[in-house]
Amino acid sequence: MFSVTTYAPEQTTDIARCFGRHIENSTLVLFYGDLGAGKTLFTQGIGYSLGIKRMKSPSFIIASEYEDTIPPLLHIDLYRISTAREIDSLEIDNYLQDGFAVCIEWSENWKELPSEYIKIEIKKISEKDESSRLITFSAFGEKHEQILSRVKEELANDYTIN
Ligand code: ADP
Ligand code: MG
Repeated sequence: MFSVTTYAPEQTTDIARCFGRHIENSTLVLFYGDLGAGKTLFTQGIGYSLGIKRMKSPSFIIASEYEDTIPPLLHIDLYRISTAREIDSLEIDNYLQDGFAVCIEWSENWKELPSEYIKIEIKKISEKDESSRLITFSAFGEKHEQILSRVKEELANDYTIN
């Protein structure tokens, strides 16, 4: 587990692009954090690093699929979803088996988590400071741990890692 502090959206995007360069087929990324924390911004940075110019905010559409990238990407927002049945109907497992990297906002709403994933928690550092964020990364399972250690190594060139 490690954390990085950013002081502007551009820095969060920069970190997300670095992260995006290391994701692989079937990487699962679960985002945690309040409204306006920066989950969509971070996912857009990942998308940008894969060559997706404009990503939709999936809040109203729940899931967006980008199948022409390497790896292909599925972007999900669970804000309006919470029952196990609704989550099952998204067939996340099938996408992962097909090699999609999957990014999920509002993972708080997913109770029965798989055993392997990367967790990214984004928090405002203080109510007064609108533009600082603490981003905490953790990985579960060997494959995801390896990805995260490569991300950490690259981020350490430009950021203070805690
Ligand atoms: P979420 O998807 O978590 O609800 P968004 O990514 O849609 O949040 O919005 C985050 C908002 O916070 C954006 O308007 C962004 O410009 C702003 N912001 C300000 N500072 C930062 C920062 N350091 N990192 C990320 N977002 C920031
Ligand atoms: Mg969002």
